Amino acid sequence: MGDSLFADASIRLENAIQHTSLSDDALERLKYPKSALKVSVPVRMDDGSLKIFPGYRVRHDDTRGPTKGGIRFHPNVSIDEVQSLAFWMTFKCAVLDLPYGGGKGGVTVNPKELSPMELERLSRGYIRGIADFIGPDRDIPAPDVYTNARIMGWMMDEFSEIQRSIQPAVITGKPLSMGGSRGRETATAMGAFHVIQTVMKRDRKEPKETTVAIQGFGNAGSILAGLLFDEGYRIVAVSDSRGAVYREEGLHIPSVRQVKNSTRELKAVYCKGSVCEAEEHETISNEELLELDVDIIVPAALENQITGENASRIKARDIYEVANGPTTSEADAILADSGKRVFPDILTNAGGVTVSYFEWVQNREGWYWTESMVNERLRDRMIEETEKVLAVAGEKEIPLRTAAYVHALRRIETATEDRGTRRYFSGR
Ligand code: GLU
Repeated sequence: MGDSLFADASIRLENAIQHTSLSDDALERLKYPKSALKVSVPVRMDDGSLKIFPGYRVRHDDTRGPTKGGIRFHPNVSIDEVQSLAFWMTFKCAVLDLPYGGGKGGVTVNPKELSPMELERLSRGYIRGIADFIGPDRDIPAPDVYTNARIMGWMMDEFSEIQRSIQPAVITGKPLSMGGSRGRETATAMGAFHVIQTVMKRDRKEPKETTVAIQGFGNAGSILAGLLFDEGYRIVAVSDSRGAVYREEGLHIPSVRQVKNSTRELKAVYCKGSVCEAEEHETISNEELLELDVDIIVPAALENQITGENASRIKARDIYEVANGPTTSEADAILADSGKRVFPDILTNAGGVTVSYFEWVQNREGWYWTESMVNERLRDRMIEETEKVLAVAGEKEIPLRTAAYVHALRRIETATEDRGTRRYFSGR
């Protein structure tokens, strides 16, 4: 498989497998995606020219149910990345006991260079390309990096046009007016918040004595920063793709979010109403942010941020992975040796797909929940599964990531056994 992200992802499986009784056959199948589709998406640009964008959709494993996972629009999207993301979704859904397998999609594009109408045509074109591959009982997309509710709405509309019937359950993370769920927008951040709070309570630590640095100020990173700030944590640094702001006394996150939302600029500010004043701060790089002397770091941007190269310089004891795949397996080993705790992506960022599941249930039932119903059910599930992962790690004396994989594999193993012998004989 070569030195790829997917090969690195598979190492996690190898590490966990010795702690389970999963059969060699089942393990062998999990090392390969079930199916992968590559499409070329033609888009008529506003200037009349035609551009072709490569797109992918991968279904990794459907032993526990239809495949589930987001769609990413990013210039670095490749088949290797999409199949790694699909692989992580299989385990993430199993950790949270959602009745799904793992899938993922992506288009290689810089969405910041597209006009809103070009973006809509790209989103619709991508769905036309993958329409036969997805469906409410087959494969259910959702938002991921640089995609959002508006894009999910266009995609659901396009799929419904193709099917000649309204199909809200084909995709999650939709606008509320098209069958979206209350609480989906904040779900990834809230899920991570519950993981952090569960661990803090166990450790008997106080938020106000805890410093945090967050890499990435997108949907998950910025909302999580707000939740932690409200709880009293001292958020000393946040960053976006251009760099980070650092302030030892802590940043006033509501003001930073207000300015970022209105100007797209990340600034250390304090606002009174619409009047914002700059606060004394330092600007540092995304790499420096991860190496700050804080209690908690939260990588909430992209994969491969903590690697064999910088892992030994990480000072924070606790790393909460809100991005997918921010830590390489080489870094994992170095961090474990120096007593760091990595709360893995497949647990920490699972709040998003959990509320996606709630959305899918609501779409199929046609009965919509209140925001407090969504948030309570999310909280209960996140706390329950976090405690189970912590318990496996404690019992077996293994790192938290391996424990999360063991926990997931046990559920996949049960489903594999319950399915009977078909797969043994046909390999399907
Ligand atoms: N893209 C998100 C993730 O990586 C959400 C997936 C979903 O809601 O299906 O977990």
